[in-house]
Amino acid sequence: MNGLGPRSVPSRTAGIGRIDVHRIRLPLARPWVSPVAALVDRELLLVAVTVEGVVGWGECAAPVEPTYSPEYVDGALGVLARHLIPRALQGPVGDPADLDRILAPVKGHPMAKAALSAAYLDAHLRIRGVNLADHLAGLSRRVDLARWFRPAAVPAGAAVGVSDSIDALVSEVGDRVAEGYRRIKIKVHPGWDLEAVVAVRGAFGAGLALQVDANATYGSLGVVEAARRLARLDGHGLIMIEQPLGDEDLVGHARLAELLGTPVCLDESISSYDVAVSALALRACGVLNLKPGRVGGLAPAVAIHDLCADAGVAVWCGGMLETGVGRAANLALATLPNFTLPGDLSASDRYWVNDVVTHPARLRGDGSVAVPTGAGNGVEVIDDLSRWTLSIESWPR
Ligand code: MG
Repeated sequence: MNGLGPRSVPSRTAGIGRIDVHRIRLPLARPWVSPVAALVDRELLLVAVTVEGVVGWGECAAPVEPTYSPEYVDGALGVLARHLIPRALQGPVGDPADLDRILAPVKGHPMAKAALSAAYLDAHLRIRGVNLADHLAGLSRRVDLARWFRPAAVPAGAAVGVSDSIDALVSEVGDRVAEGYRRIKIKVHPGWDLEAVVAVRGAFGAGLALQVDANATYGSLGVVEAARRLARLDGHGLIMIEQPLGDEDLVGHARLAELLGTPVCLDESISSYDVAVSALALRACGVLNLKPGRVGGLAPAVAIHDLCADAGVAVWCGGMLETGVGRAANLALATLPNFTLPGDLSASDRYWVNDVVTHPARLRGDGSVAVPTGAGNGVEVIDDLSRWTLSIESWPR
């Protein structure tokens, strides 16, 4: 903490001077195919909030199509422009929690809210010289600040998309293993599950930390048939099966969790703190994938982290094809103590030819990624962002 803990700093700022929303399109280093999307580039929003002349950045995780969750780039831009940014500019905004309260009357749109909230928080912390991970530790009930030291790095896992063939899948997993990632996640869907798992396990042995993500694709089968198919994966040493059923089917996941030997993890289902409370009460998951954008921001993510820690449910940090801005926030979040499993916190070059930050995240020799140490989120956005910019909207109008 270096003596400057988040609980000891002044909380008020002079308010928001300017907000810019950059719509960018960044080429992917290699195509990304999941059960819900096939991408050759990533279109997304970066929000820049200026406070007292200091710029803070936040990334909106919403993809270009509403196939992962209801949010998407056009919708996020619309709700930011018409509802969230006007409220933020009316203020008063001093402490970052003020902004979250001001945005709360707008229902839903967690990724849009999280981007604006993260940008303001980044500016707020830069003004005070406080690192984001230190600030998040200060928000957590599960951290004793007197004994807490920010980890220098967090363990990184790699997510591998859907491949054209089993051979191609095994080849790509081999590339990620050779790079040093500590855990591999592969996508599964009905018709692409047991054979894929058996092939990867056969190629890399029992020592490979392996988990699967279904992106809700077994939901249409019903719980009984989903359980029949997914039970075939039991015995292959998977760390977890992520989001087999539909986003809103907590009861189905609770039933499935009883029927499977492999722990069930929830991702898309966990859209807020309240939903996380319900999921834990129903025992719908043994593991939880925590993404700040999906739950409305970093503060709710910390609250869910604490909730899960109290319940003995491990969390890990998922990925949404973030640029260096979103990655920096995820790395800071993943320093909290109940992040006991490697996250989808791959190095920048796993996804991007060119990142939007000056010092992109790199994989270290021990399979970890360094946590930025500077003030705010600890990364600097490149000067020539215009190369990737489709549009910029600015406030006040
Ligand atoms: Mg997932």
